[in-house]
Amino acid sequence: MTTVIAVYSAQGCIGRCDANCYNAAKIDCDCICGGRNHGVGHERAIENARNGAGLSKQDVERFARFHGYQAADLKVYNTVATPLRKIRRLRAKEKRREEWRKLLEAP
Ligand SMILES: [Zn+2]
Repeated sequence: MTTVIAVYSAQGCIGRCDANCYNAAKIDCDCICGGRNHGVGHERAIENARNGAGLSKQDVERFARFHGYQAADLKVYNTVATPLRKIRRLRAKEKRREEWRKLLEAP
């Protein structure tokens, strides 16, 4: 099941646009793609992700509101362009930077 878009909070991956979405037959969708990939099939979903589906500020804000997160705490990746292992590396780096920032801010 190929993921085309992934959403992360500090706790880890909290949402994916994958076959559950792009191969879906039913209508409801609360996916990060905002319904653009819903039921369109894998090829089209990849194309949409390349064109920025799920990556806009609006997409992230809607997803955050619906799922009870703060948009600023979320990070969205196009997993077609950025392989998951690279995302994990990027996130580890961000975490270290965040911890460093906290150290600097501490009294
Ligand atoms: Zn989707």
